[in-house]
Amino acid sequence: MTKYIFVTGGVTSSLGKGIISASLAKLLQARGYRVTIQKFDPYINIDPGTLNPYEHGECYVTEDGAETDLDLGHYERFLNTPTSQANNITTGRIYQNVINREREGAFLGKTVQVVPHITDEIKRNFRILGESGEYDIVITEIGGTVGDIESLPFVEAVRQFKWEAGPNNALVIHLTLIPFLAAAGELKTKPTQHSVKMLLEYGIQPDILVCRTEHHINADIRKKIALFCNVNINAVIESMDAQTIYDVPLLMLKEKLDQTVLSKLKLSHKNEPDLENWKDFLGRLKNPTSDVKIGLVGKYVELPDAYKSIIEAFVHAGAKNECKVRVQYIPSEGLTPENAIEKLRGLHGVLVAPGFGERGFEGKIEAIRYVRENNIPFFGICLGMQCAVVEFGRNVLNYKDASSTEMSPATPNPVIDMMEDQKNIVNKGGTMRLGAYSCDLKKGSKAAAAYGKTHISERHRHRYEFNNQYLKEYEAAGLVPSGINPDNGLVEIVELKNHPYFVGAQFHPELKSTVANPHPLFINFVAASLAYARKN
Ligand code: GLN
Repeated sequence: MTKYIFVTGGVTSSLGKGIISASLAKLLQARGYRVTIQKFDPYINIDPGTLNPYEHGECYVTEDGAETDLDLGHYERFLNTPTSQANNITTGRIYQNVINREREGAFLGKTVQVVPHITDEIKRNFRILGESGEYDIVITEIGGTVGDIESLPFVEAVRQFKWEAGPNNALVIHLTLIPFLAAAGELKTKPTQHSVKMLLEYGIQPDILVCRTEHHINADIRKKIALFCNVNINAVIESMDAQTIYDVPLLMLKEKLDQTVLSKLKLSHKNEPDLENWKDFLGRLKNPTSDVKIGLVGKYVELPDAYKSIIEAFVHAGAKNECKVRVQYIPSEGLTPENAIEKLRGLHGVLVAPGFGERGFEGKIEAIRYVRENNIPFFGICLGMQCAVVEFGRNVLNYKDASSTEMSPATPNPVIDMMEDQKNIVNKGGTMRLGAYSCDLKKGSKAAAAYGKTHISERHRHRYEFNNQYLKEYEAAGLVPSGINPDNGLVEIVELKNHPYFVGAQFHPELKSTVANPHPLFINFVAASLAYARKN
């Protein structure tokens, strides 16, 4: 029977429930359990696809094309197993399901209410992955902070679920904050006491408290928290600020979070976790033998969470190359032909980021012109690849007005254009080319060399595509389509022939980079940047 773990948060948001969930899952997985993590978000959007990255950070896309919360990225990076639509549910989706059923007449005669109809639908969704038979343990992260009005139905659903599942089948981990008051020179437990009281008011006794803190919590403080919050002292887990998120599984191991969880669920903890590969990765991450500076040109640079998966993919690829990757954010809006040299000086490689809309578009093109002409390694992702195509069209093929129809709908040279089947779609949510598509790589290309094979599958999230009417001209002039979708002939990768590393991908390689499997295109881009750094 599948066991369920719920992770709630108290005191403040941003304590890192996602990382704690992923770290616990990693430890359980390393002991041989089949684990998955799902996130329930209390906002009304059906999914985060329509949210501005400034609001919510990056939108993470799964194999099956779900647009999801960025925490799912952490789950995949830690566990190296794919997630799906079922792993991310919002209030909006819960209500949509219930309202659709109401319209179908499923509740005829009944008043449809938050309790029991919404809570029943939440509980049904808690169970979907558990009932697939694929997992021994399902961890459910509840977004938001306990006490928020909007998370109430989720908290109530957790209470009911735990009660129905019975002892030892479900448990609640509450993540909380132990602030340090500098003036008093003390760690304070009161916010945690209050937060647990609030959970108790809702009928939930947390089984384990994970306490975020900047200073070690000593035995006295642990005792006090245990006494006031009705938990065993070994269920008070310290979670110190870590140097990197990838340290957290080992910190949790030291605190025996996994053992405490397993004994409460009456599961064996005989097998010691096998974390050899993880420790090997950490060793390489922390002991780099070289250093590269890579520019990330994008328009959401004020909020690094907007590029979470790209940053993490650099961490993985850096460790693989035993090289520290220093990412420098460069706002594309400020880039002009006049200042490109100055703004990009000293970089060993440039990544042009994904994005939507016109703002910063011309700056991205300038950055690409500069790195193409100066043989600086370049990696373009999605919009970044499209910009490379536009740049090449304008400056090499001499179509001065070449553009993407996303930016200039009336351009006479739409080298990037909307797919036919996208043209009649009016809704914005969930209507892009989304999720995994296959791609054939050209033998002898940089892409094929990186992957070490010629048939791959990668995840997409976009509306516009390389316009194949221009394909022959581009190829003849040296920008080669090295990855093609075998089903529809769409160009998925372009690369420059006579350049140390100039690769643009229409898909999002960063979404598939994990600790266990760093992405080949990132590995080779970092390696090329390293080679450039050594020469210059
Ligand atoms: N805006 C572009 C498109 O829709 C690129 C999207 C992206 O970078 N994810 O095709």
